[in-house]
Amino acid sequence: MTDEVHYRTCPLCEATCGLELTMRDGTVVRVRGDRNDVFSKGYICPKGSLLHKLADDPDRLRSPLIKRDGEFVEATWDEAFAAVAEGLGRVWDAGDRNAVAVYLGNPTVHNLGAMLGTKPFLRALGTRNLYSASTVDQMPRHVSSGAMFGRPDSIPVPDLDRTDYLLMLGANPAESNGSLCTAPDFMGRVAAIRARGGRVVVVDPRRTRTVHAADEHVTIRPGTDAWWLGAIVTEIARGPGCNLGALAPHVSGLDEVLDALGPLDAASVAERCGIDAATTRRIAVALRAAPTAAVYGRIGTHTTEWGTLASWLADVINVITGNLDRPGGAMFPTPAIAPSDEAREPGGRGWTAGRWASRVRGVPEVRGEFPVATLADEIETPGPGRVRALITHAGNPVRSAPNSERLDRALASLEFMVSIDIYLNETTRHADVILPSPSPLAKAHCDLAFMGLSVRNVVNYSPAIRPADHPDEPGLGDFEIFATLALIASGLVPDADRGIVTGLMVSALATEGGFDVDHETAAATNQPPVEAILDLMLRRGWAGLTLDDLRAHPHGIDLGALVPRLPAMLRTPSGTVELAAPPIMREAERLVAALATPPAGGLVLVGRRHERSNNSWMHNIERLVSGRSRCTLEINPEDACAAGIADGDEALVESAAGSLVATAEVTDAIARGTVCLPHGWGHDVAGTRQRTAASTAGVNSNVLTTDDVIDPLSGNARLNGIPVSVRAVAPAD
Ligand code: SF4
Repeated sequence: MTDEVHYRTCPLCEATCGLELTMRDGTVVRVRGDRNDVFSKGYICPKGSLLHKLADDPDRLRSPLIKRDGEFVEATWDEAFAAVAEGLGRVWDAGDRNAVAVYLGNPTVHNLGAMLGTKPFLRALGTRNLYSASTVDQMPRHVSSGAMFGRPDSIPVPDLDRTDYLLMLGANPAESNGSLCTAPDFMGRVAAIRARGGRVVVVDPRRTRTVHAADEHVTIRPGTDAWWLGAIVTEIARGPGCNLGALAPHVSGLDEVLDALGPLDAASVAERCGIDAATTRRIAVALRAAPTAAVYGRIGTHTTEWGTLASWLADVINVITGNLDRPGGAMFPTPAIAPSDEAREPGGRGWTAGRWASRVRGVPEVRGEFPVATLADEIETPGPGRVRALITHAGNPVRSAPNSERLDRALASLEFMVSIDIYLNETTRHADVILPSPSPLAKAHCDLAFMGLSVRNVVNYSPAIRPADHPDEPGLGDFEIFATLALIASGLVPDADRGIVTGLMVSALATEGGFDVDHETAAATNQPPVEAILDLMLRRGWAGLTLDDLRAHPHGIDLGALVPRLPAMLRTPSGTVELAAPPIMREAERLVAALATPPAGGLVLVGRRHERSNNSWMHNIERLVSGRSRCTLEINPEDACAAGIADGDEALVESAAGSLVATAEVTDAIARGTVCLPHGWGHDVAGTRQRTAASTAGVNSNVLTTDDVIDPLSGNARLNGIPVSVRAVAPAD
């Protein structure tokens, strides 16, 4: 039998590596990096090389499941949709559309069909109770971009391939492969900065693999990044002075920012951040003096009470060093599906959050979402508007949301729950109906979101390489599932012809996108629905591509290095980069005032990533979890000694939310005062169907994270810097 070779983009993380898959008799027998991929050039990580193991995982769901008498039984799609219509109908009959909530997991954004299908589905659903993994991740970055640029989805990325100085905070790309910065072989690009004479500085409470690849490691107390970045701003202004360069005519609010941050300087924040003043001043001067520089903050800075301010301050530094929107600085990608900036005037209506507030805690919506940290409140609190049903897509909030034991109990109390997922996991076990999503091999793929976060302008498309009716596939794609759910939410019969339903969705999307339906849709006819919409989007983009162009380039199309986009892309009311948006300035005042409040003292918990893990959902792939357990509690030798703990001991960790027992890993790679657990583990609960994951269960760190402290501007949960106590497990425990 002749081997077939297929090329596709890895959908597992933001790096978007090109893969070369060898198929024999319809089965993928090898996955390796695509050396001809225009972006990744052969780079691959252990997860990507096992993509086929995910597709072939015997525990992956192949048919819909309906819970009957507490047990899941296999069902046909028609039976499953009928059960969904009946269950949701019962809840809607009370007349409250907000009683049905939605939670979208991280993989949703890596899924073309889901990305296109959720919008019309949510419109048909008509609920304000939308939650997603964004509020345990990157929402602060959207808020700061919305405030500064009037565009929450326009996030500047460090121009890794041209920068001379990279300052990274709360980021560990050696494990994560980069986030909010799409850069396959991120660490190769970091090495190249140093090879061309540049400098890489990493600020982190742990000595990570990323630190080992850097010139300098600065240890910081968890949760204090915003104070430190504020001090960098002040030290630049007082020392070498701000230099906005070509950006100067397009920036407003700098004086107000410098006034507000004045009390934060290298000396005043030193004790709080654990960084001596001389180091802070030296880095401030170096950032300003470098020919080009970029400040890049990621999840460790964003999952704190000050996440939005930390995100904003990183970009303020990029502005005042003249590095925003210039090669080698922090730049805006130009996705192939975006319209051209040419002939556009800067300015617009700006962006705002808080158009409505959550029922129980009154937290503002951000981008139409409420924080997942308040989902349990909305389920548990009686009264009009209570969440009584939930629909999840590719999400496992029972492992990824704060205070997850509480959320676990809340989900168990729902009147009805539907999950679209590939696994029966800790969250989907609460569902009444599970609708299985296809494997990555059976999905057409194009990274709509990550084109906008990429360090080069690149576009690629991967057709499905397994047919929908393959015996190992469930038969329907995510777009078709959302189309049918939209039909149900519209009060129509769930067993209507799915071809007609998806056609209606395509028409709705085309009309909403402002496409000339008669003319442009004609060009996209005879394609599956997802491809038809993608084709229309590409035709509208600045690059003038069609889907056939992408089909003709299976290794992707490189549209070149990032180019300056300011001021044309700005949509703020003033048409400038607005540094001093009122909500941000109020929060900056709170930050300055909070410096006077002494920290609680004691140990704080932070999370960590591992290259072989992907939040909670790749732990059922044996080769990714084999070997020594990685779900350990890292603790500094001095803290371990004080707690009477030796390496390998079982340690009891307690917080205001809960407690767990983890195996201690005593290491000086973590700073004193900080302990560290990875998240996404704890797979030993009854009712799941992930045998490998259950056998290497680990512990769930979100038992310890609390849901009461959030970043007020973004609603992001505080997942780093959680006060905890640690002691040796006593017989009574
Ligand atoms: S780095 Fe990310 S995109 Fe690349 S192979 Fe690994 S999981 Fe896939």
